[in-house]
Amino acid sequence: MLLKDAFREGIEKLKLLNIDAPVITAGAILCSVLGCERTFLYTHDHYLLSKDEYDRYCDALNRKMNGEPLQYITGSQEFMSLNFAVGPEVLIPRQDTEILVEFVIEFVGRKENISILDIGTGSGCIAISLASYIKGSHVLGVDISKEALEIARKNAQNCGVEDRVDFIESNLFEKVPTQKFDIIVSNPPYIPNRVIGTLDRQVKDFEPKIALDGGEDGLDFYRRIVKESVDYLKPKGLLAFEVGFDQAQEVIKIMETSYENIKTIKDLAGIERVVTGILSKQ
Ligand code: GLN
Repeated sequence: MLLKDAFREGIEKLKLLNIDAPVITAGAILCSVLGCERTFLYTHDHYLLSKDEYDRYCDALNRKMNGEPLQYITGSQEFMSLNFAVGPEVLIPRQDTEILVEFVIEFVGRKENISILDIGTGSGCIAISLASYIKGSHVLGVDISKEALEIARKNAQNCGVEDRVDFIESNLFEKVPTQKFDIIVSNPPYIPNRVIGTLDRQVKDFEPKIALDGGEDGLDFYRRIVKESVDYLKPKGLLAFEVGFDQAQEVIKIMETSYENIKTIKDLAGIERVVTGILSKQ
């Protein structure tokens, strides 16, 4: 089959199911199957797909038509202008989370030798992008999922920061060495469990439940992390969270017991998406 025909066929199939951005989506799938750049699609109309390439393309299109997120099909997602491998073992990195990362980078400024702990690292997107943009920093990422950590380690290597990022399998702080960090960050699971069933199919049927489920009111992990974080932060250390669209005020209340200078940062949609605070004197 000719590339231009395969491309057109894919677009038509996706259009029939009203799938968003059918040209971009079919193109991305075709590029990931052929291992080529997007421009190749527009400059090699008469490239002939092998049977294997065509079969893999059809499989991938079928997965998309079945509602699977494109990122799991192509196996990658860009975050902070870095490329991250993703699979169904990890949450797909979100643009909103870049707000948290950018805030931490700004907070650090020119300080050096900063130590950072990322709780619930998943794909490692937060830990790795912080290591990559904050020169000389050391980052520890922890996650309860061994499978997620395998992906995170591969991502650290791909981004060239494996010498400054470590990963440990740990249920929150359980296996974190007794050490004080300058900064603790987390984008924990924060969806209230009764809400999970109402999320988009792409999310609820394909992304890992363990990465979404924040307990009855969605705030379980904020309570646990805030409580334990005080033993792992240096004086005046920073705690920075991503929070759900309506959780900022609740998370502020949770933090007020041991943090001061609490601030929120809005995302591009004007929603308070990040909550940060400085450890108060004990
Ligand atoms: N820290 C990862 C991310 O921000 C994973 C978050 C999670 O699984 N809740 O994408």
